[in-house]
Amino acid sequence: MPQFSSGDDFLSAAAARSLILDSLSPAGGWERVAIRAALGRVLAHDVRAPCDVPAHDNSAMDGYAVRAADLSSDAEATLAVTGTALAGHPFPGAVGTGEAVRIMTGAPIPQGADTVVMQEAARREQEDVFIPPGQKKGQNVRRAGEDLAAGSIALAAGRRCGPAELGLIASLGIAEVTMRRRLRVAFFSTGDELASIGQPLAAGKIYDSNRYTLFGALSRLGCELLDMGVVPDDPAALEAAFVDASRAADVIITSGGVSVGDADFIRDMMARLGEVSFWKLAIKPGRPMAFGRIGGAVLFGLPGNPVAVMVSFYQFVQDALLTLMGVAPLPPAGRFAVRAGFAMRKPAGRVEYLRGRLQHDGAGPCVTLAGAQGSGVLRSMSEADCFIILPEDCTGVQAGDIVSVQPFNGLA
Ligand code: AMP
Ligand code: MG
Repeated sequence: MPQFSSGDDFLSAAAARSLILDSLSPAGGWERVAIRAALGRVLAHDVRAPCDVPAHDNSAMDGYAVRAADLSSDAEATLAVTGTALAGHPFPGAVGTGEAVRIMTGAPIPQGADTVVMQEAARREQEDVFIPPGQKKGQNVRRAGEDLAAGSIALAAGRRCGPAELGLIASLGIAEVTMRRRLRVAFFSTGDELASIGQPLAAGKIYDSNRYTLFGALSRLGCELLDMGVVPDDPAALEAAFVDASRAADVIITSGGVSVGDADFIRDMMARLGEVSFWKLAIKPGRPMAFGRIGGAVLFGLPGNPVAVMVSFYQFVQDALLTLMGVAPLPPAGRFAVRAGFAMRKPAGRVEYLRGRLQHDGAGPCVTLAGAQGSGVLRSMSEADCFIILPEDCTGVQAGDIVSVQPFNGLA
């Protein structure tokens, strides 16, 4: 486990990511599932192609299947059309010398033919077709096994299945796949000020939003969720919640209670129940974070502020969960350089994650700030479509500077 960070030391975002990712390996367990249930989950084994894809040489165009040897390089060729090949209905005969078969996209290339001339290039008159010079042997033919040869690895273990992967597996005629077990994630919010929705809001209370943000982010990752509700700042209740969660789940995610101002017993308790480090990260928002283990479960103690929860989740927790889910390699962070359409000052020494909006102005793509940037302001998070990431050494942004953005689309 990573060491406790001591005193006033700040840990950089990059160091925290490495400490987290280096200490984790995939959780065990797999199961056979029907192909649709594989969506969002991670392949436990390689999927090999049991057959060639495509299964047979076929036409990439509507047109005429011909023999290249019958065509001329400098004169029009005249061929006799002897039949038709449709997708799903192969032409039963062969294409002989001087002959052509009308062929549709996806139809198997008839015996004897080796080339397809697209219909727009050919001229048809009754049973004859006239082919202009300049055709290339093999053109418009998709070869058997061109996408995947029988026996080759179609999808490697560790691949998370999205729509394209489901289609690819189906194209191989495979109905069931072996997926890693879904990761079990228990999560709860801490704080005496928190009311759950459905309850009236007493004086000084606020509604718990973090559990809903986390529910959304975790559901998108395909985790099995154990929502443990709101736990008050009460030692006995918190201890019971941590112990229950550590028995039931692979991962525990909490929000609140890890900043210095909080009742110390939450931090003491996490440390007593397991092996937990408390970090002061050199980032904004999301400075405090706890990371470690309680029993067999990995613990992420996120800060309480709603935007800080989302920033720490996306910058640290998501890739940790993907690692535990067995995703390999981790998807790249997807950062892009974009021109800033705003100006701001910033102290050096910490990474700032701003909420931004990608737009176009007269000069091309640019990014602007999406409203108030306070760490409790969920509205601007909702109106944003990217993080603007200002590195530690940055001391400010002028309009026109190039900044790094991470689009939300694709984060999960
Ligand atoms: P804490 O980290 O517990 O000191 O909380 C920091 C700030 O976030 C405080 O203003 C809390 O009221 C707020 N907060 C903590 N947990 C939640 C939550 N689950 N939903 C909304 N706000 C929260
Ligand atoms: Mg609190």
